[in-house]
Amino acid sequence: MRVAFTIDDLPLWPMSYPPEGYTADGIVTSIRAALREHEIHGVYAFSNAWPLDKHPEMAKILDDWVADGHHIANHTCHHIELPDVSADAFIADIDAAEDRLAPWLDKAPLKLFRHPLCHWGETPDKLARVNAHLKLRGLTPVDVTSWAYEWTWNRAYRNALDAQDDAALSFVKSSFLDFAVSQLRHDMLAAEHWFGEPVVGITLGHNVPFFADIASDYFGRLKDEGVVFTALEEALSGPMQSAVGSVVSKDFLVLQQKLAAAAGQTIPKFPEDQIAIHAKIVEMAKGQTG
Ligand SMILES: [Zn+2]
Repeated sequence: MRVAFTIDDLPLWPMSYPPEGYTADGIVTSIRAALREHEIHGVYAFSNAWPLDKHPEMAKILDDWVADGHHIANHTCHHIELPDVSADAFIADIDAAEDRLAPWLDKAPLKLFRHPLCHWGETPDKLARVNAHLKLRGLTPVDVTSWAYEWTWNRAYRNALDAQDDAALSFVKSSFLDFAVSQLRHDMLAAEHWFGEPVVGITLGHNVPFFADIASDYFGRLKDEGVVFTALEEALSGPMQSAVGSVVSKDFLVLQQKLAAAAGQTIPKFPEDQIAIHAKIVEMAKGQTG
């Protein structure tokens, strides 16, 4: 399995501040160390500019990311979700991020954009207008073929940390690594089936405390299972990329699931053997919103 790893929401997960014992800088520093350890290079971080106004010191997070040889891409200024706003407001927020993030965006080899929550536009008009604007700005939209729901595991992790429950912590960690492997296989097979040819997958991580703590084990486990981490450039060609932004979509789905839904078909979100585990983690995550 060839996979390009990406990360969203630098410098800080939107509107959600790290709990006691963690900082935004510390979380990203841990993820950078894990990437270095596993020799995963040139990772695109789809970033928001809003934290820089409130916390100018967070510019260091972006500086350090780029200094490691990774890249910054546009993920809107305020992480607004397209179904919640007009096309005009969304386009203005793309432009605001282009301006505010220019010092880092200008250093990236590619000009890339990711829609918050991977919403492409829930009406044909919004879809067409945003696509036209991305083209005008020379931005290539980048979607995701597999994510590992680490944000849900993060909430379960935080509950277990708060409760000082070692058994729960151990379950959260081990179940995530098993889930991540099974979920990636499931999504890669679904994408290959949908596109009718092997694909280079695009995966996603977030800068949350749990991912900071598990990142090294996560990358190591995926490599043990035969995953080869490759450059995002390799995934941005062929039928998969030309399908990005091609259909109206309002649901939180990965690329091939959005295409299937638009065609009146359903690709199951989870592999059969992980449905109960995911449900258990959702239960353990209750009460946390970060
Ligand atoms: Zn995001």
